[in-house]
Amino acid sequence: MQNSKSSSGSAGRISRRSILRAGAGITAATAVAATAPEVFAPAQASAAEPAVYDVIVVGAGYAGVTAARELRLKGYQVLILEARNRIGGRTWTDTFAGKQIELGGTWVELTQPHVGAELKRYGIGLVPDAAPERTFFPTPSGPAEFTPDEGFTRMGATYERIFEGSNQYFERPFEPLYRADLLKDLDKLSLRARLNQMGLTPEQELLVNGQTAVYSGGSSATGALTMLAQWWALSGWNNDGWNETMKYRMSTGTVGLLNAMLNEAQPTVRLSSPVAQIALSGSTYHVTTQAGVTSSAKGVVLAVPVNVWQSIKFTPSLPAAQTTAAAQGIGVKTGTKLWIHARSPQGRFYAQGAEGGSPITMMIPDKVTSSGLLYSAFSTDPAFDPTNTAQVTAAVSQLGANIEVLGVKGQRWGSDAYSRGGWAFRKPGQLTGLYPNVQQPGSRLAFASGDIANGWSGYIDGAIESGLRAAQQIAALI
Ligand SMILES: Cc1cc2nc3c(=O)[nH]c(=O)nc-3n(C[C@H](O)[C@H](O)[C@H](O)COP(=O)(O)OP(=O)(O)OC[C@H]3O[C@@H](n4cnc5c(N)ncnc54)[C@H](O)[C@@H]3O)c2cc1C
Repeated sequence: MQNSKSSSGSAGRISRRSILRAGAGITAATAVAATAPEVFAPAQASAAEPAVYDVIVVGAGYAGVTAARELRLKGYQVLILEARNRIGGRTWTDTFAGKQIELGGTWVELTQPHVGAELKRYGIGLVPDAAPERTFFPTPSGPAEFTPDEGFTRMGATYERIFEGSNQYFERPFEPLYRADLLKDLDKLSLRARLNQMGLTPEQELLVNGQTAVYSGGSSATGALTMLAQWWALSGWNNDGWNETMKYRMSTGTVGLLNAMLNEAQPTVRLSSPVAQIALSGSTYHVTTQAGVTSSAKGVVLAVPVNVWQSIKFTPSLPAAQTTAAAQGIGVKTGTKLWIHARSPQGRFYAQGAEGGSPITMMIPDKVTSSGLLYSAFSTDPAFDPTNTAQVTAAVSQLGANIEVLGVKGQRWGSDAYSRGGWAFRKPGQLTGLYPNVQQPGSRLAFASGDIANGWSGYIDGAIESGLRAAQQIAALI
């Protein structure tokens, strides 16, 4: 197992090991366009539309768009039905304070194999983010300022202890059950149980428990050790690799890659078409929207979040593993991302809270604007209103920093009807209890979701991985 050497080795490119890789900020120096993101405009349905498509893909996030692209390129007739009036799902390129922002998934890396391959395929570049100038971390006597090197190095050293042994139990990180024998008991552990097991000092505990709690959806007792440990393993079992995964965003915004995939494959796309019912009758699926419009196909790829599966009526019912996953949920139900436009006497800072402390658990500096600085931030507090300036100011001050808020924008993914949760984070027992059956198709019904990937589950890379798999599965079945 790695030791703290790797933490100090990262000092030159200070970490943004923040939340969901979601966080770290970009900088004034980067070249991301400030213009509004390109909006995908589906072609009008043509008269030549088939009475029965080969495949209907439900959901136009990364998983669904990938599956549709693959199937189109194999020559199948594909219809995508998307509930929202935009593509992208839990990725959402938007603008705020005149800058391009992401309200959902953001950070990618070329070594994440599936997204890396797609970025190369379409010639989309990555933009690195810049390091904060100072950091605030919780300590037993309240928030304290550290140099970025010191704060992040200390946190990395604690993580390295927590994930000790993951090079054995996740020997092959893209085959999560390869050492199922070692995972049998470990998968029962919550992150809280692991923190308690470690005998950490109060100082060490406070360096990480804000993150373990927020990844888990608010409490470290809810998230599985094996979820965070698998991300760590996928990052190369060390702190340097972990930091790298939080460093780059797509120069086009996340929507740029989706547009490239759709433009290449040209499936038929219907936006604002929430699916209410998916019914198999004989050898044909009939997929009906909430507005009562029915489309038919030989097979279906279900590419909506696992937390949404229960909102659709299936005939026949979902297979057992998917029924269990739908009842348990995988996306964290309290996940909120917000953007804060602010001025601060403390300059460009990173701030992290403690479990149960400030409603904002992570705050990451982003672009400079003409009047201030943009920060992205994360919360899992259901009582917190990310658009309330007074609440945001108070929450930031609990982290030890002072800001003058110029504007706020937020997305509560848990109360969004078409995601019912934010990033995927498995609960104890879900890896060994649900996998691999949750990835297996039913009767010509395949499941695509970043929530149930083998590798980067909870990431854009995992969504692409699952879309590739579902396309293969359905092609073999229809
Ligand atoms: C706040 C946040 C930060 C994140 N940060 C990162 C990050 O930095 N890096 C990273 O790689 N990943 C990150 N992720 C995770 C990443 O965004 C997701 O794993 C990925 O986008 C999931 O893609 P998907 O296609 O599986 O699901 P989704 O993107 O949720 O797509 C599902 C689609 O189905 C549609 N849908 C839902 N119900 C219906 C219905 N009834 N009928 C028709 N359509 C329907 C939805 O509208 C949506 O478009 C983050 C996620 C969140 C929420």
